[in-house]
Amino acid sequence: MVRQLMLKAVTCWAVACFSSGALVPCMLHAAEGAGGDYDQVRAGLIADFGSRKPTEWGVSVDGVATRLATEERVIALTLDACGGTKGSGYDAELISFLEQQNIPAMLFVNARWIDANSAAFLKLAGNPLFTVANHGLRHRPASVNGRGIYGINGTRGVAELADEIWLNAEKIHGMTGKRTQYYRSGTAYYDEVAVEVAGRLGHRVIGFSVIGDGGATFTKEQVKAALLASKPGAIVILHMNHPGKGTAEGVKAAVPLLKDRGFRFVDLAEFPLDGAGRR
Ligand SMILES: [Zn+2]
Repeated sequence: MVRQLMLKAVTCWAVACFSSGALVPCMLHAAEGAGGDYDQVRAGLIADFGSRKPTEWGVSVDGVATRLATEERVIALTLDACGGTKGSGYDAELISFLEQQNIPAMLFVNARWIDANSAAFLKLAGNPLFTVANHGLRHRPASVNGRGIYGINGTRGVAELADEIWLNAEKIHGMTGKRTQYYRSGTAYYDEVAVEVAGRLGHRVIGFSVIGDGGATFTKEQVKAALLASKPGAIVILHMNHPGKGTAEGVKAAVPLLKDRGFRFVDLAEFPLDGAGRR
């Protein structure tokens, strides 16, 4: 009975969080603060989603927000910090430029990146210009059946998926006191059931409408061209974990031109969201 009540509350509050766009903690967060039990919540998620068979797989499946729901000339930057042996750098030049320009960004941080950059992470988390968001515990594609992409195995089931999201959220909360409310999986791939599970754990899934740096493989000119193609309400995906690649220089080249065209850079959290999904 306790579990049922808690899960019912989780569902209600998670929906309220997302539909209003307000910065309201979901009920799981509130339940935890009141002594709630993640193990119980996870068992409930397995009961509710464990038999579901996903039909979609990709970066913009049902439920993934891919743009801001506005026709204003606004752009939201999102920066991933993926971690791992080849992805634990810190692009101080990019962050410094955003600070100088007073440009907000949502930072999707992975647990491995936090471990490798704890001082920088805490500094970023304390800067009101930036919103810390969840990029998973082990940087796995978000799957309920182990489906992968780019040779990276997805989470093998609901339990592993829940851990992927929640244990990184807990890590961030433990270090900063802040609860993440936005999630992007490692590789940004999902099935639609996984997106629902993320929602029940209090996280809106954030995709993108502009691939800004091709996983930090683009040259400066490619990054610049990608950003200049942004339409009103664009969500741009970039990376802040590969210093010395084209990302920072490309952003620095594109920003003044976009401003000349009447664009302004905004905090994603301040806008209603739109995309392939309708949740
Ligand atoms: Zn990543």
